[in-house]
Amino acid sequence: MTFFSSSKTIGILGGGQLGKMLLYNTRKWDIKTKVLDNNPNAPAKLSCDEFHVGDLMDYQTVLNFAKNIDVLTIEIENVNVKALEEIEKKGIKVYPQPNVLAIIQNKLKQKKFYKENKIPTAPFREFKSIKSIKEEIIHGNLCFPFVWKSNSMGYDGFGVKIIKSNRDIEELNDTPGFIEDLVEIKKELSVIICRNVKGEIKNFPVVEMIFNNDSNQVEYIISPARINNEISRKAISIALKLSKLYNHVGIMAIELFLTSDNEILINEVAPRPHNSGHFSIEMSYTSQFEQHIRAILGLPLGEAKNKISGVMVNLVGEKQNNGPVKFSNIDQIMTIEGVTPHIYGKKETRPNRKMGHVTIVNEKIENAIKIAKKVKETIKVISK
Ligand code: ADP
Repeated sequence: MTFFSSSKTIGILGGGQLGKMLLYNTRKWDIKTKVLDNNPNAPAKLSCDEFHVGDLMDYQTVLNFAKNIDVLTIEIENVNVKALEEIEKKGIKVYPQPNVLAIIQNKLKQKKFYKENKIPTAPFREFKSIKSIKEEIIHGNLCFPFVWKSNSMGYDGFGVKIIKSNRDIEELNDTPGFIEDLVEIKKELSVIICRNVKGEIKNFPVVEMIFNNDSNQVEYIISPARINNEISRKAISIALKLSKLYNHVGIMAIELFLTSDNEILINEVAPRPHNSGHFSIEMSYTSQFEQHIRAILGLPLGEAKNKISGVMVNLVGEKQNNGPVKFSNIDQIMTIEGVTPHIYGKKETRPNRKMGHVTIVNEKIENAIKIAKKVKETIKVISK
């Protein structure tokens, strides 16, 4: 089934920045697309052929959207999986497959999947309510500190909290979840894997994720990670094993912890283009977005090596700024060699909302890091 010079259409659930960046490639290849998002001004709106407004979690909306499309994909995992199963039954290709999404949407299911398949992960215990966590503490069966995670609908750290005292527990939402041992993390790593319909797999280099201490969100991605070859090989081998286990089609971002004992633990995966792979637009032979499109259309994958090293910096909304967005000082960084800003096109900024990113390429990673820090200090995402 060739999509080149045809009227065949890719449907994308979600029209955020990931959708917008996927569309750079469908535009490049003149492939038709249709996007569904609940926001009438979603970033991907301008680059697709057809834009629909609707709720991605609503069964009937998703089912109706899939009419007249040939392949359906996602750019966000919170979508109605039952609808995807029904769409798959009708003979439309759905990538990532609904069974992959059903595991990933629920953090507890994901953890159980790793345990069953003997992939090293932080030890965990299921708790159906906050009350039962408190009881275990009273009975001396649970000690501080630990990490609490909500089973579903968490992202960017919203459903995750490090618990150090009874007071921290009072702040939790009473949703089913689990607790995890607090890991002594040396570095947080990510490996982006791509797998196509034929089972061909390519991995991007291991990258390092540097988090902002306040917001607990990724601030910098360093590509490649500053780790030795042995750790890099170990991380890639775990990522490839996971990719084969999930048997997914498309991009899968594999988030790992490198512990203080040099052990590698799986934290979680995302079966879609990922923030930790944005570097690939400027740094790789083939970007994660192009790889995803190649994979879901049954095309051969491209080379996933880096052409050059570098850093990606997330641009997020400044604290206490809510409203129509303004990017200040962006022109000041544009004269620096190797610097490319990306603006997502979201109309409104909010504290810590991802509004854009900047890629800095440089032959020397230390130079890229210095420039990245300067970029972060210079550009401010504020409200008008
Ligand atoms: P989200 O899906 O919201 O991104 P994660 O499960 O990735 O949530 O957790 C967010 C961050 O919290 C991680 O990147 C890491 O910094 C920290 N974290 C999560 N689990 C642990 C753990 N078991 N030990 C130490 N830190 C953790």
